[in-house]
Amino acid sequence: MTSLFIYTIAYFLFVSGLIYPPTEFVSAGLTIPALFSSWLGNEYDNFVQYHIKRTIVTLFIHSLLPFGYIVGLSLLDHIDSAQVFLGTEHPLWLTLSICALIGPIYALNLIVNWSKNGFSKHPIAKSLGIYCTDTGIWLDIAADVNREYKSFNKLQIRTNSTTKIVVTNTWIIKVSAYKLEIASQINSVLVTYNVNSYSTPSPSHFVHCVKYRIVTRQPLGKNFTIRININDVENLLEEITMPRRDSSSIQIPQTLTEIAIYAIKKEIAKNPTYKTNQQLDQCAVCMQAISNVKLNRNCPDIPEMDGIPACKTCNCPPIFCIDCLAKWFLSTSRRRAKTAAEVKSSCPQCRSPFCLKDVSYVSLGSQNTAQGTPTETQ
Ligand SMILES: [Zn+2]
Ligand SMILES: [Zn+2]
Ligand SMILES: [Zn+2]
Repeated sequence: MTSLFIYTIAYFLFVSGLIYPPTEFVSAGLTIPALFSSWLGNEYDNFVQYHIKRTIVTLFIHSLLPFGYIVGLSLLDHIDSAQVFLGTEHPLWLTLSICALIGPIYALNLIVNWSKNGFSKHPIAKSLGIYCTDTGIWLDIAADVNREYKSFNKLQIRTNSTTKIVVTNTWIIKVSAYKLEIASQINSVLVTYNVNSYSTPSPSHFVHCVKYRIVTRQPLGKNFTIRININDVENLLEEITMPRRDSSSIQIPQTLTEIAIYAIKKEIAKNPTYKTNQQLDQCAVCMQAISNVKLNRNCPDIPEMDGIPACKTCNCPPIFCIDCLAKWFLSTSRRRAKTAAEVKSSCPQCRSPFCLKDVSYVSLGSQNTAQGTPTETQ
C-alpha cells in the first residue's frame, strides 16, 4: 500500500511537471517540445508548422497520462493487467482503465481529422485561413508569419513555462500548450483589461501583471487575452503598432520601486496596529509626513540561521513614515530570500534586525494592540 502511495505521488509530480514544467524540468530537457525536438523541427525556421506539430504532440501525450498511470501500476505489479481485462481484479480497475483510454482515443480521432488536407483543418491553420485573400490559402499566411518570425524585428515575451507572446510587424501571437492564437495588428485593438497582483512567499517577489485583451475586427477572428508581467509592459507597448485603449479605471504602477513599495505596504497592513499616546513627530527622512510606523516585534522566534539574523525587539519611537520605511526596507533588506520571514532589514537607529511582520502602523489611543488596516496612510 505504501509503495502504491509513493508511486501515485511520484506520478502526480511527474504529470504536473510535464504539464506546467518548473525550471528544473526545463533545464533537464523534460518538456514535450524538448523531448520531441527532432520530430518538431526548428521553431525559428518554420514557426507555424512547428506549432501545429507541437500542439498535436502535446495534446496526444497529455491525453495518455491517465493511461500511463495504469500501465505503471501494472509494471510495478500493483495490478495484473491480464486479470483486469479478464474481470477477475476489482471491477474498479477495469472501469478506470477504460476511462483512461477514452482520452487518447478522442485525441487520436481529433488529430486524424486535423491532419486531413495537409493539416488545413488544424485550429492554427483555420485561424490563419481567415486572413486569406479570395485566391490564397492558409499556407500563404503561414509563410508570411514564418518570415516575420525569422526577422530581427520581433519581440518575444515568455509569460510562463508554457506560454509566450510574440509580436512581429504585422502579427501578435500567443503561444500556449494546446493553442496558437493570432491576430493581425492592422485590424485589432489592444485593450487594457485588468491589473492583477500575485503575492509570492517573499515580498520582494510580489508580482504585478497587466492583462490585455486583443480585440480583433477581422471577420471570424477571435479575441484573446494576454497577461504580461509589469517588467515587460514597456517593451510590449514599444513594439505594438495597433491602437491601444486603456480603461480609465485602471491604475498601473509605473516603476518597479512603486510596485515593491505597494507590496510592502500591503504586507504591513496585515499586522496589528501599535497604539500610543505619545505625540508623533515628523518623519526623520522626508520631514513631511508624520511618522506613522513603529518596529513592533510580532514575528515568531526564529533563531539566527545561515547568516540571517534573528529579529530583535526595537524600543525606538516611531521615526519613519510608511513610504520612507518601505524604501529603507527595500534598499537594505536581503534579496534572494526563500521565504518572507528571511527578508530582513535593521532599525536605522538601534540596528535591531526586523522583518515585515515586525512593522506596525501607529495610531493614537491608549488601547492595547488591535487588528486593523489604517486607511488614511494608504
Ligand atoms: Zn517619510
Ligand atoms: Zn530601533
Ligand atoms: Zn521578525
